[in-house]
Amino acid sequence: MLELRGVSKSYGPHQVLAGVDLAVAPHEVVAIIGPSGSGKSTLLKCINFLEPYDAGEIVFDGALVGYAERRGRRVRAPDAAIRAVRRHIGMVFQSFNLFPHKTVIENIVEGPIQVLGQSRDTAYAYAETLLGKVNLGDKRDARPASLSGGQQQRAAIARALAMRPRIMLFDEPTSALDPELVGEVLETMRELAAEGMTMLVVTHEMGFAREVANRVVFMDGGRVVESGPPELIFSNPTQTRTRDFLARVL
Ligand code: ATP
Ligand code: MG
Repeated sequence: MLELRGVSKSYGPHQVLAGVDLAVAPHEVVAIIGPSGSGKSTLLKCINFLEPYDAGEIVFDGALVGYAERRGRRVRAPDAAIRAVRRHIGMVFQSFNLFPHKTVIENIVEGPIQVLGQSRDTAYAYAETLLGKVNLGDKRDARPASLSGGQQQRAAIARALAMRPRIMLFDEPTSALDPELVGEVLETMRELAAEGMTMLVVTHEMGFAREVANRVVFMDGGRVVESGPPELIFSNPTQTRTRDFLARVL
């Protein structure tokens, strides 16, 4: 469904991604773990083409996200094609990024009405369904500032889902939350995974990675060092760098 081949990126002289290969199958939940600065957020931004990359290619459902290598030459997909594929990729960040002056439901219907061209009736009806799903039915008309961090993050998840994405990317969705609010957001993500959503989740929540992910990818220094089923990565990592990292965080 999603395939990255040799994706590399530098900021000036600093290489942040050094040839990342990664494939995600439909309905798979992949957790990306790794030390700070290892390139996890940059990788997600490249997948969503929020950041251009310097080499390699990313293919989503057969469509190029950005660039391809053709007979040694680098070609860039047309903007319209990039926009079309990005539409199927939902993203939730560490900070909630809701529009502060809109209510919760207005936040959710914005994309479907403005970008997908849905009617207000269709957009509002689906938004109500999503609010129920993330357990925010009673916050429909609240402004983001009046919500807890956990509620804001669940609203952000509903807003991403309103675009009916085929894959959801999460970048440390719980790391800005007070500890007592982490559980409710992870629960929402767990339900999403159980419904079969394809998910790529950068996380420090090793318990979540162990229980919910089908596969764990350990990144260090801009590379995928090791990847495998959680039981293998957590109990029997083959690479020293993985072992050292887990010894620090577990
Ligand atoms: P963390 O766990 O702290 O979120 P990360 O694995 O997500 O880390 P990235 O945010 O992808 O790491 O950053 C990887 C490296 O790229 C870091 O050294 C960072 O300083 C650098 N970097 C990221 N964004 C930029 C930018 N816009 N300009 C210059 N350097 C950047
Ligand atoms: Mg990051």
